[in-house]
Amino acid sequence: MDRSITDAFPEVQVLEHEPLSKYTNTQTGGPADLLVFPKSVTETKQLVLWAKETDTPLTIIGNASNLIVRDGGIRGLTLILTKMDDIQVNGNQVVAEAGAALIQTTEVAYQAGLTGLEFAAGIPGSIGGAVFMNAGAYDGEISEVLASAEVLTRDGEIKRLDNRELDFGYRHSSVQDHQDVVLSATFKLRAGDANKIRSRMDELNRLRASKQPLEYPSCGSVFKRPTGYFTGKLIHEAGLQGFTVGGAQVSMKHAGFIINVGGATATDYMDVIHHVQATVLKQFGVELETEVRIIGEEK
Ligand SMILES: Cc1cc2nc3c(=O)[nH]c(=O)nc-3n(C[C@H](O)[C@H](O)[C@H](O)COP(=O)(O)OP(=O)(O)OC[C@H]3O[C@@H](n4cnc5c(N)ncnc54)[C@H](O)[C@@H]3O)c2cc1C
Repeated sequence: MDRSITDAFPEVQVLEHEPLSKYTNTQTGGPADLLVFPKSVTETKQLVLWAKETDTPLTIIGNASNLIVRDGGIRGLTLILTKMDDIQVNGNQVVAEAGAALIQTTEVAYQAGLTGLEFAAGIPGSIGGAVFMNAGAYDGEISEVLASAEVLTRDGEIKRLDNRELDFGYRHSSVQDHQDVVLSATFKLRAGDANKIRSRMDELNRLRASKQPLEYPSCGSVFKRPTGYFTGKLIHEAGLQGFTVGGAQVSMKHAGFIINVGGATATDYMDVIHHVQATVLKQFGVELETEVRIIGEEK
């Protein structure tokens, strides 16, 4: 299999058995059999078609900030899209490629005097991951500012989906159901006062730094908010803050985060997640569903 991808794409750098802990925000995770950082839509499309034709499993990753890769790693071909990171301003619209950082996109919007994306100033994902997850914070959500997204189907067809077709919900988009690859997103913003935009972004980033354990590797909020409850409060009241397995620990600063205090494995993360879920279910009868995406094989 390795030789055939190299034969098919002699110009493309293919990393073999590459540890994904080098790229994930938790700094955990096993190796990708084959890892490529595509540089263009054409390259991405050719690789997706190669995976289909050779029956090779295909995994798409953005900035790996909402991801746990199990310690056995990922079979087949993994694409990390962060080299496709162009951002353009076109009137009141910002068009960003899938691998562009959401944080960088909010900076570009601010520099162009466009308001609407301030809520995302501190979300450390890529545009593709943000559309996939319908990322949101501080009363804002991608679905509220996204005009359309260009996606690549697993059959190699490129389509433009408008906001409605993306079927957004709480941390949900249709991309999750169809396994499309997000290629770019177009945000519809409004002309605003640059000083006000900057101060709102700074304010939200200060708030984030005061409440979240940003000094440690993590994958953000691990669990979704169950209807009628606050996840952090449940975990706090269950006495779980500080609970540690290996190097993975329920943060003392924000109960919804599990931080890597040093040397954590994905298995440590999974053990902490399962313990938190079991304890909260036992004490409060509430099922915590993971927001973080868990992929790959056990070791
Ligand atoms: C400190 C910290 C704070 C955070 N704060 C927030 C917050 O306030 N709000 C919030 O919503 N999230 C937050 N997150 C989580 C995370 O940043 C978001 O969910 C983000 O949108 C994930 O983007 P990503 O590129 O990192 O996705 P990844 O983690 O790389 O991937 C997540 C999922 O998206 C899929 N995916 C990624 N790119 C594509 C693509 N181009 N096409 C198709 N599928 C794709 C992957 O297959 C995977 O299933 C936080 C995380 C951290 C570490």
